[in-house]
Amino acid sequence: MYVESVDFKRQAWDAKILGDLLTRLIANGYQGLLAEIHQAAGRFSRPRPDRSLPNSLGQADGFTDVLIPPAQPHTRVIFFLAQPDLLRMIVAGRNQTEVRRVATATKMHLEAAVGGHLSELLPAVADREGPDRFRREVVPALHLTASGGLVVGLRDGAPMQVMLALRRQPAFRGRPTALGSQLTTLLPDKPTEQAREAMERLVSSGIVERWHVVICRTGGQWLAVAQGPDEIKSLIGSNVACPHCGVRMGEEIQEVAYRLTEAADAQFADNRPLCELLDAALRRAGAEAVVIDPGRGAVDGAALYHGTVLVFRARSGAPSAEEAAQLLEQSRHVEQQGWRVVSMLVCDQPAPADLRQSGVFVVDNVSRLDAALEEILSKVREQQTSALLPPVLRPLAISVADLLPPD
Ligand SMILES: [Zn+2]
Repeated sequence: MYVESVDFKRQAWDAKILGDLLTRLIANGYQGLLAEIHQAAGRFSRPRPDRSLPNSLGQADGFTDVLIPPAQPHTRVIFFLAQPDLLRMIVAGRNQTEVRRVATATKMHLEAAVGGHLSELLPAVADREGPDRFRREVVPALHLTASGGLVVGLRDGAPMQVMLALRRQPAFRGRPTALGSQLTTLLPDKPTEQAREAMERLVSSGIVERWHVVICRTGGQWLAVAQGPDEIKSLIGSNVACPHCGVRMGEEIQEVAYRLTEAADAQFADNRPLCELLDAALRRAGAEAVVIDPGRGAVDGAALYHGTVLVFRARSGAPSAEEAAQLLEQSRHVEQQGWRVVSMLVCDQPAPADLRQSGVFVVDNVSRLDAALEEILSKVREQQTSALLPPVLRPLAISVADLLPPD
């Protein structure tokens, strides 16, 4: 489910304008709950002019309507008067494309009913939950500094992911190393070509060094290691035999190995790779603002998504209960400012199960970060929606999800 909500503010949303809006929508093929009620009332009583739709709206204190747009049976539009001067439009549907399409069409009808440009009705409330307020209030409250300085300039997720996976490989001469033939296992959800390209970018950034190796075909032992290909070539051209199986060197496996350099340590020290992965993933998912400032305290960054603040800690290794508690404490500062807040722990090793019960969202599978993030963000959207829904639907325990037909 995807939901979009817009508030329109004008001096007063009187019954005539709202009546015109409904009449217009229904004339254009929308089916509305109020119109249905109206028809039902007509079946049970004699028609009276003062019971016309615009007139009956004038009698009502609040105004709420749920509409099915024409030719969009999987989408719902909800209009309700949140305050006398604030009309809220909520559009819910199966995906962003459907919702956007219906929202645009419905806004055009609203514009025609109002007889002016909608843009004039928007600015007064634009900052209610917007990025400006996020930067003004949330960023200082969490003591974050928007640094922006990318250490290796690898904002793209794939090199970061490869770097994190490489770090867990067995050590060769004291540093994590992987063979070229293992590349796909380092980036399991992407094509091999992308893994190779990501690795090459790490090599050219000095984060990884490339080695040439000869490996025993029978026992898997490393027979020769060199940084340049020439040394290996001369060994292979020679008559030297493998000490393990006796085969000539030229018949053994020639491979490339990738080894993390010391330059990688500084990057890992403050969890920056994970933070930048998260930063990129949040932006892909549609976050309106993201600030990362890793390695300074209990919080590594924050993001704004659909009016909700995501406060996060991204760390290498398994997170502790203490870190979760510190993160929640920071989140409370933001809650006190009146925001809806979600606390999120992202780590590259499995987190203890009890951490998930602590009120913190845990993402501990970085290779499927987008999917894990989407699970959390869909909950955020649901929360936002229930907070937006008109009070009249609450006694019926109707949620926005209930309004949508099953697929
Ligand atoms: Zn051998």
